[in-house]
Amino acid sequence: MEVRLENLTKVFPSRNKKSGEEVVAVNDMTIVIPDGKLVGLLGPSGCGKSTTLYMISGLQKATGGKIFFGEDDVTNLSPENRGVGLVFQNYALYPHLTVKQNILFPLQNLKGPDKLSKNEMLERTVEVAKLVQIDNLLDRKPSELSGGQQQRVAIARALVKMPRVLLLDEPLSNLDARLRLQTREEIRRIQRETGITTVFVTHDQEEAMSISDEIVIMKLGVVQQIGRPQDVYDSPENLFVAKFLGTPPINVFSGRVENGKIYIGEDCVMEAEGVEDQEVWVGVRPEGFVLDNSGPLHCSKTGVEVMGRDVSVVATHTASTNSVIRAIIPSETVVGDGDSVSFSLKRNKTFIFRKEDEKRIRLEK
Ligand code: ADP
Ligand code: MG
Repeated sequence: MEVRLENLTKVFPSRNKKSGEEVVAVNDMTIVIPDGKLVGLLGPSGCGKSTTLYMISGLQKATGGKIFFGEDDVTNLSPENRGVGLVFQNYALYPHLTVKQNILFPLQNLKGPDKLSKNEMLERTVEVAKLVQIDNLLDRKPSELSGGQQQRVAIARALVKMPRVLLLDEPLSNLDARLRLQTREEIRRIQRETGITTVFVTHDQEEAMSISDEIVIMKLGVVQQIGRPQDVYDSPENLFVAKFLGTPPINVFSGRVENGKIYIGEDCVMEAEGVEDQEVWVGVRPEGFVLDNSGPLHCSKTGVEVMGRDVSVVATHTASTNSVIRAIIPSETVVGDGDSVSFSLKRNKTFIFRKEDEKRIRLEK
């Protein structure tokens, strides 16, 4: 089921009627979530991810704009009539009910032609429990489960009504690092197997990148960029997106374009033919540095960190906005002992951004 948001907006009135300002939590959002895909909604805390999800589910009413499921305009439908499954960060299982009863619960409220017999409900429950691999835990209480198992129960409960759309709001935040990894693979598998159109909300860029067919990056309620994770990483539209994706983060320098060349401080690092003279931000991905004695970017070396497969050279430069520069180079590379280090920069890993609006200026290849 394709989900389409058209100019979706949510304004919260000010809490303090006299002085407070209203909050535009989601601002004129237009996106298409393709049928059967998993789309990651990504951005820092407070950027409007949950609000977007709640509007899709119907738990919150949009201030403006429309929501379509396929051809159906669902903007004014109640949550029960939208056919969505919702999973929250805190699993919110009923503690006094068994796993089986928890999963089965939403089926008991079905009315009219959708009403199921006891046997049908049980069959459905076992089926989804198998899908999320907790069918051996059906008689336990939530307190007898690990965090990861509890989250699987919550997912099973969201799936049992066979929703048209699955909405997940930071579903992995309460899990420890290893379980988070494992559970996100599980969510991916379940999503593929069921083919349910899914929106996955997270503030964790790595999580969104690894699991999503497409990511939507938001800032202060406004969509910044939409695309396949690798495409967005390789071709960010603005400085915010460039900085939000990637670990270690992109290295950002204050620089300028002069006579068709990019300067970082006094270092002339790259051709930028056809670009007007101006102040710019220069972003270089950690893997965009090449150790090169005759390279144009001269830095002070502060250390070398060995990380198994790669080596990261830690350095500083007066024009760097990051406190330290991290350059990732292959571990075979021999790093000299000196206090200074020079790099040349890979063109496809180097981006420049206008200072006034932080939009990217595209370089010729
Ligand atoms: P996210 O999920 O990305 O962290 P939210 O969608 O929860 O962000 O919130 C977006 C903005 O809307 C925030 O500034 C938040 O404070 C505000 N907000 C969220 N819910 C309400 C509410 N019920 N009343 C007023 N402001 C709200
Ligand atoms: Mg949220």
